[in-house]
Amino acid sequence: MRPSHFLLTSLAMVAAVPGGEWHPPNLTTESAKDLLLETGTCCAALSQALGAMVSYPGQHSFESSVASYWSVLERELSPSCVVTPNEKSDVSRAVFILRIGDEVFPGQCNFAVRSGGHTPFAGSANIESGTTIDLTKLRPIDVSADRTSNFEVVLASGEIVNANATSHPDLWRALKGGSNNFGIVTSLTMRTFPQGDFWGGFLVIDIAAIEQQFAAFEALLGNPDYDPYASLIFTLFWDAPTDVWATSYSMHYTKPMENPPAFRNFTSLPQLYGTMRTSNLTDFALELAVTNPSDHRDLFVTATCRNSAEMMAAIYRISQTIVAPLRSVPNIKLSISMQPQPAFLSRKSASTGGNAFGLNDEDEDLFNVLLTITWDRAEDDALVYRQARSLLDQLEAAARDLGVDHPYIYLNYAGPWQLDAIVAGYGAESVERLRETSRKYDPRGVFQRQVPGGFKLGI
Ligand SMILES: Cc1cc2nc3c(=O)[nH]c(=O)nc-3n(C[C@H](O)[C@H](O)[C@H](O)COP(=O)(O)OP(=O)(O)OC[C@H]3O[C@@H](n4cnc5c(N)ncnc54)[C@H](O)[C@@H]3O)c2cc1C
Repeated sequence: MRPSHFLLTSLAMVAAVPGGEWHPPNLTTESAKDLLLETGTCCAALSQALGAMVSYPGQHSFESSVASYWSVLERELSPSCVVTPNEKSDVSRAVFILRIGDEVFPGQCNFAVRSGGHTPFAGSANIESGTTIDLTKLRPIDVSADRTSNFEVVLASGEIVNANATSHPDLWRALKGGSNNFGIVTSLTMRTFPQGDFWGGFLVIDIAAIEQQFAAFEALLGNPDYDPYASLIFTLFWDAPTDVWATSYSMHYTKPMENPPAFRNFTSLPQLYGTMRTSNLTDFALELAVTNPSDHRDLFVTATCRNSAEMMAAIYRISQTIVAPLRSVPNIKLSISMQPQPAFLSRKSASTGGNAFGLNDEDEDLFNVLLTITWDRAEDDALVYRQARSLLDQLEAAARDLGVDHPYIYLNYAGPWQLDAIVAGYGAESVERLRETSRKYDPRGVFQRQVPGGFKLGI
């Protein structure tokens, strides 16, 4: 943990005019241009400025960075170089050189920003023939004594600013849902609370009782007094070799209370397997990790629906219709998860500064749908994508027919072809505010043009 005076010192040091002509110590626009012209490429200029933090194909640091993406689809991209900064000032110099580099070598200094590297599709946090800034060495974990939150951000100019409720609040709000559109976050101070042991685990309920499970989900989510300690992920699993479906739950109640009333509509149904227990967060996280192995090709696709057991039944019906062609795909795993998104979450967010998702005054109970598919062979990509799109198209049509469709698309679960629709889902007012914030903090549009990966504002 950093001492609290660190934050105050950083705040005092930041320049006052975001997006102004700023340059890092020992580097000016002119000297950066000279460096780029002398060295001939952005990667070479970065090497000159950052030394061993810049690595190339064949070097251990490059190869281990590329190999550590969760999905094989991201690993298949090969950047020209990887920058692995040790601290925020290295990120600042890298962004400065890449921005000036685009003036010297137009279109040749594009870059990607990578943290955990968990996004499944290619190009979100990696780039072909560009520069990948791999932030995995920046792991500051701050717990703020006064329970506020804060983003430390390297802007397109290279300038480092703090964004929080009182300093650059527009940027702070935009970063809550704005992804890589505004800058590179180099440190995050989070609001925390003490969490002791709690009750939860993994539960398999007999799929014969599927209608009762949908009804239990609808009742849990629709309860006007939703119990905020109750969290669950309901999953429909398809076993390809046997063509059999099963239903499971990742179910947690964040108090050490066994079988709380909120879950009894589920736990009273016939159970086939369960690990429900009182334990700690690390133990539960490790249990979840086992069900999400890396080293495969992966696809996430998502939708948001209004609370409806009928819609859940429709999702199950549609899912069954798209899987038959996928039985020929070796080692395929397919599941559809549904997670409650009760209205009080949006209201809580609005009361703590709001977000960019456009859900601040959402007064409806929603649920998130996540289709996850993993497979191994590149030759199956087209078939997998086709079936996933078919499922989503049918699902969206069914939601419209039932009057339970919702435009919101959860960024973390979006499929590659859903990225443009994310902007629409945020709503016109939120998007306009995000675009204004982008123009203010990144007037040259560096993060729109030079960082093509992931969700973009479409400016
Ligand atoms: C097994 C598994 C389980 C998951 N479970 C959940 C879950 O329960 N809930 C959930 O919400 N999500 C979940 N996800 C999705 C995951 O949390 C999101 O994809 C998340 O964005 C990944 O974060 P990352 O640091 O790995 O991002 P990366 O994949 O590294 O990057 C994601 C995007 O953010 C940008 N970015 C990364 N770092 C920065 C930065 N410092 N500054 C600016 N932009 C940046 C990148 O450019 C990229 O566009 C899961 C993913 C996996 C693989």
